[in-house]
Amino acid sequence: MKCIVCVNHVPDTEAKIKVGADGKYIDKAGINHILNPYDEFATEAILQLKEKNGGETLAITLGGDSHKETLRKALAMGVDKAILLKDDSVRDSLSVAKALAEELKKHTPDFILFGKQSIDYYNEQIPGMVAEILGLPSVTAVVKLTVEDKKVICHREIEGGQEIVETTYPVVISAHKGLNEPRYPSLKGIMASKTKPITEIQPIAVAPVVETITMFKAQSKQAGKIVGTDAAAVPELVRLLHEEAKVI
Ligand SMILES: Cc1cc2nc3c(=O)[nH]c(=O)nc-3n(C[C@H](O)[C@H](O)[C@H](O)COP(=O)(O)OP(=O)(O)OC[C@H]3O[C@@H](n4cnc5c(N)ncnc54)[C@H](O)[C@@H]3O)c2cc1C
Repeated sequence: MKCIVCVNHVPDTEAKIKVGADGKYIDKAGINHILNPYDEFATEAILQLKEKNGGETLAITLGGDSHKETLRKALAMGVDKAILLKDDSVRDSLSVAKALAEELKKHTPDFILFGKQSIDYYNEQIPGMVAEILGLPSVTAVVKLTVEDKKVICHREIEGGQEIVETTYPVVISAHKGLNEPRYPSLKGIMASKTKPITEIQPIAVAPVVETITMFKAQSKQAGKIVGTDAAAVPELVRLLHEEAKVI
């Protein structure tokens, strides 16, 4: 069984995000980056698929040299090998998806795992786009994955419940929190990751069709105002809600 995970290198969830000088993109300077948290579930999933069914695992990322750090994390978790589609040019989600799909089809994978979403730009577009480009079934937000012969049974997280769907592989799956408990890389895994191969490949160039016009941080909320603490404050409260807040 051939299982591939696509991983992104994203700002640490603790990082203080700043908008870049051009007012369009995240300023990545001085920010610690990590393996996208949803991609950890996806990585664990392909490791478990290999453990149950044999075969090989591969991690792919598209980005600059810094993405190698994230590939090393996937390798340290136990993935066999990795590919860096090395590119720093401006890309939108479709452009990333087309480049990933072009590489993925060379490997004829049985399972292509993604995270549900990338926590940098939150587009939630790439898994569906890749499935469409490759003509494969796609199941999103998966919290349980079972494979029986050719049958793939997925539990999907939906508002207030779960949905169970069935398909066959090859398939594209996006992983949601709860799919599994991602393993911590062991010391042995970390040492082994240093010698595992990361192949650098030039991805296909695809002009973006969506352009970011501007990006800004939400304004911080103003401090609350205490009008009074007893019934005497009600008329003033009503006036403020009517005239200032304009909610009544
Ligand atoms: C080289 C490059 C240049 C970019 N330039 C710009 C820019 O100029 N302006 C801008 O606003 N944005 C830029 N981006 C961000 C890009 O447009 C996407 O927003 C970003 O790749 C995340 O995609 P998404 O939010 O659509 O991911 P989602 O669809 O939310 O991600 C879902 C899953 O797709 C996979 N995935 C996402 N990104 C990658 C990746 N790079 N490699 C492998 N798997 C991935 C992961 O499994 C992830 O969990 C750039 C990205 C790259 C890689």
